Amino acid sequence: MARDEVEAYAAGVLSGDRAALGRAITLIESRRPEHRRTAVALLQALTPHTGRAHRIGVTGAPGAGKSTTIDQLGVNLTARGHKLAVLAVDPSSNRSGGSILGDKTRMARLAVDERAYIRPSPAAGTLGGVTQTARETIALFEAAGYDVIIVETVGVGQSEVAVAEMVDFFLVLMLPGGGDDLQGIKKGLLELADMIAVNKADGDNEGRARQTANDYRAALHILTPASPNWRPPVVMISGLRNIGLDALWEQVLAHRAALEAAGEFAAKRRAQGVRWMHAMIEERMRAALRAEPRAAARLAELEREVREGRAMPVAAAEEIIALMGLSG
Ligand code: GDP
Repeated sequence: MARDEVEAYAAGVLSGDRAALGRAITLIESRRPEHRRTAVALLQALTPHTGRAHRIGVTGAPGAGKSTTIDQLGVNLTARGHKLAVLAVDPSSNRSGGSILGDKTRMARLAVDERAYIRPSPAAGTLGGVTQTARETIALFEAAGYDVIIVETVGVGQSEVAVAEMVDFFLVLMLPGGGDDLQGIKKGLLELADMIAVNKADGDNEGRARQTANDYRAALHILTPASPNWRPPVVMISGLRNIGLDALWEQVLAHRAALEAAGEFAAKRRAQGVRWMHAMIEERMRAALRAEPRAAARLAELEREVREGRAMPVAAAEEIIALMGLSG
């Protein structure tokens, strides 16, 4: 790894040059060992310049209006002088496929906004891999001077938990619907939410949106809030008509102020950092296991033996740990 190379990457990112930022993200997305070494050195060099952005997660089912809302909220924010970066966490994404989360074409105005930067999700990978890339991309965005970062994910599966773990504020978009719809909402998702926004509260939908918002208020009321300093509000918005988005942003800022006043904001980030470290170690240990031919082969055999009741899980685990040279 050339020192000059790391310095050139770092200088490019810090200068705010879009092409340099794009190259740095491509570098950290690479899994080749020599790229990894450069990426880690780059992230280390940039560390003093990270941590400054307000990080917002946005989730919602397909069609809930994520891209419409992020596009509108985004141009509202850049008009006020913010620099906004958007990235997607979508382990199922496929670059050659149709509509992809974070695809530039989904956010037409932001895509041509000089103060905005949109990064599509990397091609399909494990959730752990995509999550790691997203966290590192956030660091690059911050070093490049973006002060608001939106991390978008589809509200299905585990990716919303992963996104909630890397942001300061987690926004859940919902659609107006009958009360029955509430039954389909996972309790876990409500527990992650710092705010629920019922989108498409415009035209004929308004009455239904109001009812839905009341239903969510009732549902949230019986949950214990994740933070002792914040009660997640339910708001009505129209991403399409730019209704309620200023009030939504005020709530995002109020949340930050409340958590900062209590010391919870910094504590939450530090706790996220510790969990990030553990997640990376586990991810790397698993990768090391896959890359060690003898252990990987024996693991496949042992899996069968355990399944058929011919081996004890404890003994099997010990054997693999010994093969990896890790037994005490
Ligand atoms: P995503 O899949 O969550 O990103 O959803 P999109 O932003 O692509 O929106 C899905 C559809 O809903 C599109 O046809 C949008 O025009 C429409 N839509 C999004 N937001 C609103 C809104 O606030 N009001 C109305 N009436 N339609 C909306």
